[in-house]
Amino acid sequence: MTFRPPAAPDLASPWRTDARAALQQEARAFAHDVVLPVADELDPQKGEMPREVVEQMAAAGWFGLTVPAASGGLGLGVFEYCLVSEELARAWLSVASILARGQGLGTQVHDPARKAELLRRSAQGDWIGAIALSEPTAGSDLAGVQTRAVRDGDDWVLTGHKRWAGNALAADFVEVLARVREPEEGEPRSAGLEPFLVVKERGTFPDGMTGTPIDKIGYHGFLTWDLELDGVRVPDSDRLAGLYGDAGAGADSGGFAAVQRGLNIARVHTAARAVGVARAAVEDSTAYLQEREQFGHPLSDFQALRFALADMAADVDQARAYWQQVAHLLDEGVPCERESAMVKLQATEMAVRVTGQAMQLHGGNGYTTERRVERYWRDARLTTIFEGTSEIQRRIISDRLLPRA
Ligand SMILES: Cc1cc2nc3c(=O)[nH]c(=O)nc-3n(C[C@H](O)[C@H](O)[C@H](O)COP(=O)(O)OP(=O)(O)OC[C@H]3O[C@@H](n4cnc5c(N)ncnc54)[C@H](O)[C@@H]3O)c2cc1C
Repeated sequence: MTFRPPAAPDLASPWRTDARAALQQEARAFAHDVVLPVADELDPQKGEMPREVVEQMAAAGWFGLTVPAASGGLGLGVFEYCLVSEELARAWLSVASILARGQGLGTQVHDPARKAELLRRSAQGDWIGAIALSEPTAGSDLAGVQTRAVRDGDDWVLTGHKRWAGNALAADFVEVLARVREPEEGEPRSAGLEPFLVVKERGTFPDGMTGTPIDKIGYHGFLTWDLELDGVRVPDSDRLAGLYGDAGAGADSGGFAAVQRGLNIARVHTAARAVGVARAAVEDSTAYLQEREQFGHPLSDFQALRFALADMAADVDQARAYWQQVAHLLDEGVPCERESAMVKLQATEMAVRVTGQAMQLHGGNGYTTERRVERYWRDARLTTIFEGTSEIQRRIISDRLLPRA
């Protein structure tokens, strides 16, 4: 209704290539033609994204953007992964998020032949998962995870309570972070935490796992689950060497360290998604200021509103330039823990500010479900909370600036 994709590529960064610009255009057209109408229809119903949308993304190869070409993926980097994600988030945040459930997630098994098979499936969008790190009493403090994994013969038996596992029912597997032992003296509290692969059928939960959907105020498109684990059996072969896929994560080191590396990629990915949502707010506001008249003039004649829009657009472009820089550094193999925290903090806080301002520019119409701007505002609000809150990003950054008592 109000959004027209710009005809020319706007990837004007030092990292622009023709291939990247073409990928961006492909994702932008898909977001506009396929995702946006679906979001408009299903978001008000708190509906889930249709299987066909996922299948079209799979056919485009996007679940394997960062999977090596030799393993059946597109063999691209964090940069391209974020580039596509910004475009998808422009239409619906959750559709950009589902991409993160491919990219080699759930393939870090030790057996090389099985790993190769799972990577191939991941790249094809035929191995789409859910991530269950958080718990009712362990959110920001992930080292406080209490779910237990106890060895029993060739299996591990998982018992505990997970919260916030997005896409868990629809997934082919759930990656569960569990404690296999207590930390020894001198070790960090995170010692003894290991990721496990719980393989399942799509649309059901495995034996020992029950799920209850959490009623959210936004981020519709997939359901988010509270999971009870009561004796879920996992073969030892499904104890994972790392939580995330290979995407820019470097060599395996297993356990919590691998989780941290994966989080750096997840944070720049969240920044790109936040930029997509904020860009949507700018684009819709640009149209609305020209469409709506007051005092005999289009709103776009009022300098205060023009300047507000200018600030919003400048904020979005600045955040985009920063995610592109950090994604580039991650692709170069730079660890980027501080930078990932900074870009996540800056881009998501920006998205909250910009979508709130967009609502203001829409006046009363912005505070209705008749306009998309309320969806952008609800979805942007989440981005400062998940993948580590703004306070946790500030903590990571300040710990690198200041000694801790
Ligand atoms: C919609 C949604 C989807 C999610 N999806 C997933 C998922 O798929 N998988 C998954 O594992 N998790 C998921 N999460 C969980 C998410 O990562 C956590 O909600 C987030 O890390 C915050 O944890 P918490 O909610 O327990 O808040 P808490 O940790 O309880 O924090 C409460 C407040 O205290 C602040 N705080 C906490 N510790 C400190 C500190 N040391 N210093 C300063 N401030 C602090 C926080 O910033 C926050 O403001 C999702 C969450 C939501 C809401």
